[in-house]
Amino acid sequence: MHNALLDMSGLPPFSRILPEHVEPALDATLADCRARIAALTAADGVPTWEGFVEPLEELDDRLSRMWSPVGHLNGVVNSDALRAAYNVCLPKLSAYGTEVGQNADLFRGYQAVAAQEHLDSTQRKLLSNALRDFHLSGVDLPADKQSRYKEISQELSALTSKYAENLLDATNAWSKRIEDEAGLAGLPDSAKALARQTAEQRGEPGWLLTLDFPSYQPVMTYADDRALRREAYEAYGTRASDRGPHAGRWDNTEVMERILALRHELAQLLGFGNYAERSLATKMAKDPAQVLAFLEDLARHSVERARGELAELAEFARAEHGLETLEPWDLSYYSEKLRQHRYQIGQEELRPYFPIDRVLPGMFAVVERLFGLTITEVAEVDSWHPEVRFFEIRDAAGALRGQFYLDPFARQNKRGGAWMDVCTNRLHTVACDQIPVAYLVCNFSPPVGGRPSLLTHNEVETLFHEFGHGLHHMLTKVDYPAVAGINGVPWDAVELPSQFMENWCWERESIDLIAGHVDTGAPLPDELYRRMRSAKNFQSAMQMVRQLELALFDFRIHLEYDPVRGGRVYDILDAVRDQVAVMKPPTFHRFAHGFSHIFSGGYAAGYYSYKWAEVLSADAFALFEERGVFDPAAGAGFRENILERGGSAEAMDLFVAFRGREPTIDALLRHSGIAA
Ligand SMILES: [Zn+2]
Repeated sequence: MHNALLDMSGLPPFSRILPEHVEPALDATLADCRARIAALTAADGVPTWEGFVEPLEELDDRLSRMWSPVGHLNGVVNSDALRAAYNVCLPKLSAYGTEVGQNADLFRGYQAVAAQEHLDSTQRKLLSNALRDFHLSGVDLPADKQSRYKEISQELSALTSKYAENLLDATNAWSKRIEDEAGLAGLPDSAKALARQTAEQRGEPGWLLTLDFPSYQPVMTYADDRALRREAYEAYGTRASDRGPHAGRWDNTEVMERILALRHELAQLLGFGNYAERSLATKMAKDPAQVLAFLEDLARHSVERARGELAELAEFARAEHGLETLEPWDLSYYSEKLRQHRYQIGQEELRPYFPIDRVLPGMFAVVERLFGLTITEVAEVDSWHPEVRFFEIRDAAGALRGQFYLDPFARQNKRGGAWMDVCTNRLHTVACDQIPVAYLVCNFSPPVGGRPSLLTHNEVETLFHEFGHGLHHMLTKVDYPAVAGINGVPWDAVELPSQFMENWCWERESIDLIAGHVDTGAPLPDELYRRMRSAKNFQSAMQMVRQLELALFDFRIHLEYDPVRGGRVYDILDAVRDQVAVMKPPTFHRFAHGFSHIFSGGYAAGYYSYKWAEVLSADAFALFEERGVFDPAAGAGFRENILERGGSAEAMDLFVAFRGREPTIDALLRHSGIAA
């Protein structure tokens, strides 16, 4: 059998990758990696950078290139066969990761290289990260603890995958058919057309609502039928739990409990007090007290104001619409009404100005002006779905710097949310010269009724956000994958480029590049732009405390885990809500059961990173406010000190090199309309 996953001659041959390729390809690659590691560690003489570290970087890269399409396809075109193949491989990957991390010969090899002179700062950073990671993999533990570490890692990787599967299955399982269009009163035409299209695709009459975000969000924001909003709210908020329409069917309760217990045990094995401490071992933040103080400081600035915003909303709903009690399923609906009332602007009104075929080239024009890049589409590149597009990035000198796939629209069997992931790393050694390739995945409203996809302004922001991650990955000039692009960047600094790029969705000069009316091509009218800007910080304190709630909850369940008392997930969530939430959900709500960022993504005891990095990104953008949003020197500074440097130096040092000083919280508070 020819195995498409072992074809490393160019981009992954997606259309030829089959589920039955997955396990044999991984087995072959791991066997090869093991043999080469054995040869490298057995070699005579003192290990050197070129003779030892570079071959290991190439080895890691081979495994990453083989596995990347598998993880990616599992996320974007999930199927039973692929899922099964993926899950068979997780314990093998986890076992290999632990084995390498605990390989004392390898560890000594890195130590020997690290002791040598004539290394540059990137090489030193890579080595210090590597030595740190050996410790975090248990290289210095006694044998019995090492094998326990391995068991825990394997079980955790299976559990986090199970958590994501439960959530995806539960999301797919619910739908609601509307027979009479009157039942959709209030919904914009775009949402109705999507519901109609979904019904047609599944061979059903009428309109079909689902829990995919482009369907769910308009229901919560616009549906006049309060009972429908409540029903959708309950279905969404109880996914993969013991409550709601599929109670107990894909229940994550035990999965979460076990994940927390194992993370705690793993942290203690390594000598940490808890998993929050373990998480911070690789981050910018120094210790749990600093993280809590940071979040509580933001809370102090915003909770009162958020309460005021909620009171104002409740009063508006009562006075204008006769609503006695504002419930959670009323929040988006009346917020949208209040926004309309106050600013005469809503997401739907902006949509016609953001057809995706205008936004994309516009966004490329923005980064061309900012960073001197040219981005062009390449036709007929093999992919996993007809909607996928492929682009390449060249710099001012014409050199090919990176390539990326864009998979823009929501569909069944595709994981929700938006993300950037690595397809290929930059690798530049004597033996290899490889440019970085990224996946940009979004879940935008698909084109309906033969019209192009029209994005909401939120979706435009999401696109800029993910593209910011993509630029960080693709513009890197670092030669070694372990610290190139987003690799080796502390998790609480990794959102700097992404959140930074969102700012260009709000400036007049850049809006003119990305907006154009779908029918006439007309620019966004001044009047509409002014209203959009003035609505920017609408309910910003409520949004702030919502993020603080998630961050504190995530951090505290990992910090306060107690083996005797268990995870106490909802006790801690309640306590956090007492502290920062302005509206509490009903008792049936099961937020944590669907909080995939921390239970199946990489944000465990790290969700605070969004806010942490937002301090950096807001402060970075403040320089452009001072000098002009397309100031060439500021753009070059950001490209050279942040985007091109990846994880090759301490995140704080890179920020200071760009900004000339350490970050302050002021710009974030000012941008959020929350004065210091
Ligand atoms: Zn991000």
